Amino acid sequence: MLPQIAYANDIKNIRFGKPKIDTHRIVIELSADPDFKSFLLENPSRLVVDIPFSNFKAPIFSDTNNPIIHDYRFGKPKQNIGRVVFDLKLLVSSIQTTSFVLKPSAESKNYRLIVDIKTSKNREHSVYTGKVINIPLPQRKPSILNNIYTIAIDAGHGGKDPGAINGRTREKNITLSLSKQLKQQLERTGRYKVILTRPHDKFVKLRKRVNIARKAGADLFISLHADKIERRNVHGTSIYTLSEKASDSESAKLAKRENEVDIIAGIDLSHEDEDVADILIDLAMRDTMNHSNVLANTIITSFRANRLDLLKTAHRSAGFAVLKAPDIPSVLIEAGFISNNKEAKLLNSITHQRKIAKAIANSINMYFTKIENSSL
Ligand code: ZN
Repeated sequence: MLPQIAYANDIKNIRFGKPKIDTHRIVIELSADPDFKSFLLENPSRLVVDIPFSNFKAPIFSDTNNPIIHDYRFGKPKQNIGRVVFDLKLLVSSIQTTSFVLKPSAESKNYRLIVDIKTSKNREHSVYTGKVINIPLPQRKPSILNNIYTIAIDAGHGGKDPGAINGRTREKNITLSLSKQLKQQLERTGRYKVILTRPHDKFVKLRKRVNIARKAGADLFISLHADKIERRNVHGTSIYTLSEKASDSESAKLAKRENEVDIIAGIDLSHEDEDVADILIDLAMRDTMNHSNVLANTIITSFRANRLDLLKTAHRSAGFAVLKAPDIPSVLIEAGFISNNKEAKLLNSITHQRKIAKAIANSINMYFTKIENSSL
């Protein structure tokens, strides 16, 4: 482990790019690569850019003819955070911002934090934040190419992250085995192309899992897990869909546990995830969420039909990072509780895994049949 070194980042200059038809550019020149966050505030209209460990060395604003800002100023809302506030001449509701960083180049020896402000009438309020976010716009309906759908199956945990543990039972082994069973069941129908986000016992970050699915053009994303809880008598499967807020505190705790996986890799992405979540929810992934809910309901129907044990409130919602693809209907299935000895034994058995896999495969069939026969 390296000691934590607080580095300084000098804000050396702030300048404005030549305005294009509907885009204005703010350039913040910095001595180091910033880990920044930007957002808009209303009444009065402001653009806020937070840059950790930054010092303000830029000249005082003097251009009264600037078309987009009245002024800018610098402050420290927290000890480690430097904040530049731009007082905008534009209404927040009429603009969209995109921000990113350019590395030093022949043009400039500084890092440049760029904020592009796009102006347009009747545009809904929207804020883009963070630097590594490629804004993934909702883009597609199921691609009924030769009637073959692509299903991404995501075996929870893996490698150095075992997931929940009870005795010799490891969640990561159950999820991997279950994902292979489900792959087999789906491929057997001839209706699906299946990709696994991790085909082996290996650690894969949560966001990477979503990216794998998006790259493959997946029509569905199914994340498989097995839960644990202090009350060891609790048993049964539950199906989760994404929500801003968890449906109850137990769900919130579970989402927190599952999302913390990325911290194990040494980088805490949870803040970025919050930003991404904001954007995605802002951009309204309503259509995708509707589809996710339909899928969750068909899974429950199929489990009931196959007399599989369901948790009392089987359909739940929470802010799982792996469910945040804006354009792929996604569910997370907690196949059961490995904290329950009886259920742990079942979950370890191939026969039971196959039964669960069959029920899920059935529900996926039902889901696509529904989609093909309706305007859903
Ligand atoms: Zn899990």
